[in-house]
Amino acid sequence: MDPMAIFTGITHGISAYKTAVETLDEAKVTAATNELHIQLMHIGAEVIAMQNKSLESTEREATALARIRELEDQVRKLEKRNRDFSRYDLVEDYPGTFTLRIKESARNGEPVHHLCPSCRDNKSVKSILQITAKNNEIAQCPTCKTEFRLAPPWMPSL
Ligand SMILES: [Zn+2]
Repeated sequence: MDPMAIFTGITHGISAYKTAVETLDEAKVTAATNELHIQLMHIGAEVIAMQNKSLESTEREATALARIRELEDQVRKLEKRNRDFSRYDLVEDYPGTFTLRIKESARNGEPVHHLCPSCRDNKSVKSILQITAKNNEIAQCPTCKTEFRLAPPWMPSL
């Protein structure tokens, strides 16, 4: 029931009550009193319903805010990951073998290293290639196990 309908009902109930009181007819006064009680019960029910809606609305807002914070965290993590990935260049260290090598300007004291391009592109995972062979030319991605031949010396002297 909308608030205008409740207001109209109450106004009508009060008007009927006044009329009944003026007539001094006990039956009409009783009927008008009962009608007012019914109208007041409707108001009470409406107030409770509005409180419930308000509570549901507050809960929905809290859920939405929590979801927004969760998404903002995800965006921050993705931005951080993208910033980190932007520190690497796709290089052909060995003819026909492509890896992501850290840019010299972005090393920040880290040793020269390569990332697996497939893991970055397909899984958004930063997987640092690890040397597996004695001659320091074969590196393996610890995530997808793909092997990459790197040009010796694998770590150029800088
Ligand atoms: Zn990989």
